[in-house]
Amino acid sequence: DTSVDVDAPETLKSRPPVVAIMGHVDHGKTSLLDALRGTDVVKGEAGGITQHMGAYQIKTKGGDLVTFLDTPGHAAFTQMRMRGANVTDIVILVVAADDGIMPQTIEAINHTKAAGVPMIVAINKIDKHEANAQRVRERLLEHEVVVEAMSGDVQDVEISAKTGVGLDELIEKILLQAELMELKANPDREAEATVIEAKLDKGKGPLATVLVNRGTLKVGDILVVGTESGRVRAMLDDKGRQVKAAPPSMPVEVLGIGGVPMAGDKLTVVESEQRAREVSSYRQEQATAKRTATAPA
Ligand code: GDP
Repeated sequence: DTSVDVDAPETLKSRPPVVAIMGHVDHGKTSLLDALRGTDVVKGEAGGITQHMGAYQIKTKGGDLVTFLDTPGHAAFTQMRMRGANVTDIVILVVAADDGIMPQTIEAINHTKAAGVPMIVAINKIDKHEANAQRVRERLLEHEVVVEAMSGDVQDVEISAKTGVGLDELIEKILLQAELMELKANPDREAEATVIEAKLDKGKGPLATVLVNRGTLKVGDILVVGTESGRVRAMLDDKGRQVKAAPPSMPVEVLGIGGVPMAGDKLTVVESEQRAREVSSYRQEQATAKRTATAPA
């Protein structure tokens, strides 16, 4: 990362945590993402059509915001990390209580540890009669994950993504973890964001879902993202509503980028279109040079 400017401590304000859900296939990642989305107190609002865009934000009963990366599976997490984009603050490790620790559970533990991201263990499918939460806790010890119930410091919670049992407790634990981490960003500066996913839409052109890291992204901002440049023509939130500004930790879909960027690309706001073009064409040249250099003879 080439950015050297650091925000002064007095400019920092707390920001919502960004949470990723990992675990073995069929252990309930998608079900949990759906169930958590259902806890959003804003969900019933008029015009609120939920759209899939790689991340969503909920407002909890207490009024706190939590951002969830809506990309089940580990590919997105590792891919982004390989590209230097560490957007995840907290990982929820989902383990089905009837199935226990499986290969992808172990993989998820390893990825999370390698990233240095704190973990919360959600023991799912607790509604099933074959469920054995204690066995999950014991088996986790073998992978050096010591949960609170085993006198460790990793928070754990029994849940059912199906019945909704334990979801409030899970959210409380996320908020507690976030508080311990003192997650902060300066909202009053030009934005820096990370691309979560991007695509070409037939009607709207290139669309990128970004997560704002610091600053506030605004309609009209001139930007550089990866090898592309553009100007924010419009922004949509996860409910498909137009928004004028996106503060830290808010996921938004951005319209107005010249081409389709890549997941993990950094978005930065620059002062002029001239500057945006300079930076993006320099990066395009670099990318071409790199491709030429590594191309097989
Ligand atoms: P993923 O592959 O990890 O995303 O898992 P899914 O969310 O697709 O869930 C796999 C299966 O488990 C589906 O049939 C879900 O309906 C079921 N499932 C998920 N959570 C629960 C739960 O808490 N209780 C029960 N009984 N079934 C669940």
